[in-house]
Amino acid sequence: MKITFLGAAKTVTGSCYYVETKSTKFLVDCGMFQGHSKETALNAEAFPFNPSEIDYIFLTHCHIDHSGRIPKIYIEGFKGEVIATQATVDLCSIMLPDCGHIQEIETEWLNRKRQRSGKHPIAPLYTCQDALDCIKLFRSVKYGELIQLKDDLKVRYNDAGHILGSSIIEVWVNENGEESKVVFSGDLGNKDIPILRDPSVIDSADYLVIESTYGNRLHQDKTNKVDRFVDIINETIERGGNVIIPSFAVGRTQEIIYDLHKQREKFDEKLQRLFSIPVFVDSPLATSATDIFRRNLDCYDEEARKYIENGDNPLDFPGLQFTKSPDESRALNERKDNIIIISASGMCEAGRIKHHLKHNLWKKESTILFVGYQAIGTLGRKLVDGAKKVKLLGEEINVNARIEMIDGFSGHADKEGLLGWIGKFKKKPKQVFIVHGEEEGMLEFAGFIKEQFGVESIIPSKGESYIVNANRVIQSTEKPEVSYTFKRLAVVEMMETLKEELDELTEILKLDLKQEKEDYEIDELRIKLKALEKSMVDILR
Ligand SMILES: [Zn+2]
Ligand SMILES: [Zn+2]
Repeated sequence: MKITFLGAAKTVTGSCYYVETKSTKFLVDCGMFQGHSKETALNAEAFPFNPSEIDYIFLTHCHIDHSGRIPKIYIEGFKGEVIATQATVDLCSIMLPDCGHIQEIETEWLNRKRQRSGKHPIAPLYTCQDALDCIKLFRSVKYGELIQLKDDLKVRYNDAGHILGSSIIEVWVNENGEESKVVFSGDLGNKDIPILRDPSVIDSADYLVIESTYGNRLHQDKTNKVDRFVDIINETIERGGNVIIPSFAVGRTQEIIYDLHKQREKFDEKLQRLFSIPVFVDSPLATSATDIFRRNLDCYDEEARKYIENGDNPLDFPGLQFTKSPDESRALNERKDNIIIISASGMCEAGRIKHHLKHNLWKKESTILFVGYQAIGTLGRKLVDGAKKVKLLGEEINVNARIEMIDGFSGHADKEGLLGWIGKFKKKPKQVFIVHGEEEGMLEFAGFIKEQFGVESIIPSKGESYIVNANRVIQSTEKPEVSYTFKRLAVVEMMETLKEELDELTEILKLDLKQEKEDYEIDELRIKLKALEKSMVDILR
């Protein structure tokens, strides 16, 4: 079979691996590139294959960097099946439309800007409706179920413990009477993520494609995480302020609710007071996601399951409320009592959190409590880095509130977790492909794998293909179609830009019929255009 690495290759986002076997073409993940504009621009590129020829997408989990281009491939002709666990299907059915909605809003904003400079409008990557429509292609599978898709292709999904429904996917391909097995780790969870089990042990693989987000780092000890969390809330309420928690709607929000629920068992004065404070989850996406978490109990670890068996909902506690309408959300800022608000987005770039920040950042009694990584350039990062003033919803706001960061929550296994997981393979892979990380960390991680297990790793670049069979790996010498297509796309883009520039110039000249420019300037322009016309004719030949 041939594996082409189309995303998360020497970078973290855009997970997408294209596999061709004798009889089948499939993708593992079809994620979105996120972060800087150089990366997000990759989302608009055409797929280097015909989408209608793809039979399956094996989806590891719901995160947008793994699932976010499924609606795009759908509108471009993909009619196969997207195979995922039930929890992943459920979460995608809210997260992908939400992502489509964001695409529409961002494009609208961009088009207003383009219109002002006379440029033609562009279409969103896909719409909310496209995303809703593509869900009909999803098919759910259970963990541990061996699924024979074709005579020569079977797969099995195993719990990856990273987010509800996340999977490690085992793929068996039989070609020319020989079977080879490739394991795709997906994103691997951290050992102590609330609610979720630890990543499943896989016992063998011929080849392993593994994530490496924290491949060269160790997580800090986080035993005090919850204590600090409770202390910060208590101190704020004592001072008469509100606690605003910017949180990722799916995953992190439910972990916080679970951790707070767990504290109820402790009979401590501080905690008793905490449970007399109203806690609001103010994010429609977080509310829907919490419902999905409450439905997919088969993904829970032992501890979470015990609560359910005892008739106790671990994603609830007295005082917890979910706001729905924008009116209810606004009303939170008019309350006279002190409250805790958990709202999205986690990096404060969009969503209802912006209103709550506007009403609390200037109050010295309030606290903004961050519980997740803040990327460079985001409002969240500016606040964590100590900005004294920020621009928010068109206003400049002084930052007087207390800003806190609890760094203990991470959804990814660290270096020890990843190596420990590889260590449990009884039959070690012949070769490892390292993906989903930053290049420097990947090189170090490859060194650790070699040192501990004597196994060589390949760190593929975007667009590189490898032919793997039961015995060996060969880098495909066939010029990857990928760069082939991308080269053409780059030329198309240049021509479009040129066309826009020419249109703009035409408009300017039309307005200049009243001869505001000197005639000699127009003559010069005519000479230049004559030359351009000549070279254009040459190009077209
Ligand atoms: Zn993930
Ligand atoms: Zn990821």
